[in-house]
Amino acid sequence: MKKPIIGVMPLYDEDKESIWMLPGYFDGIKAAGGIPLMLPRSLSEEDFDTIDLFIDGYLFTGGHDIHPSLYGEEKHPQCGIIEKERDALEAMIFRNICGKKPVLGICRGIQLINALMGGTLYQDLRLELDSTVDHHMSPPYDNVAHNVTIINGSILSDIANKEILGVNSYHHQGIKELAPGLIASAIAEDGLIEAVEGSCGGFLLAVQWHPEFSYQTDEVSMGIFKKFTDICR
Ligand code: MN
Repeated sequence: MKKPIIGVMPLYDEDKESIWMLPGYFDGIKAAGGIPLMLPRSLSEEDFDTIDLFIDGYLFTGGHDIHPSLYGEEKHPQCGIIEKERDALEAMIFRNICGKKPVLGICRGIQLINALMGGTLYQDLRLELDSTVDHHMSPPYDNVAHNVTIINGSILSDIANKEILGVNSYHHQGIKELAPGLIASAIAEDGLIEAVEGSCGGFLLAVQWHPEFSYQTDEVSMGIFKKFTDICR
């Protein structure tokens, strides 16, 4: 059987002016039976259409904060560095493929998807969310930082097969208002939505935690890569 090709959003290092990749994203896809392929930092829509012919699904990776203008807000001082070129690339790709090709979002990915579908974000959880949960853990990142409750009947509950799941946590932003067209499928103890699924047609799963750091030690993290890769086949 042909292995699915997964288009992976590139990470950007502004100090080195380089695109780069965390091995866990690639290795998680490979371990799940897919072939990862990193996309360029910018693409015309026409060139994207050509590439898209060969790609079976898309992984929206972690990284910089997205510009609050994507959800109609001014940028607060606590909002991190913005990478406008990446915002533009990912918005163009998501709008072209949503409902047509499987999508997996991780960290920035869940935030981007929620914003593009009409939701909003906390620009800084510590300032805006009354919470005792530590969402910004120290390494090692395959440790559990906090629990989430998984909503029954979701894709995620199918993967995890349990109601309470321990997850890692390395994010300072998060979903404030959930976009129409998304359902919450995991919720942290402080009420923060940590996983969403789509109702826009095709497969769409996004998580606020980082399965790319824990797929080797945690079955559910591996299960997320496996489910996504299997659907892309
Ligand atoms: Mn968290």
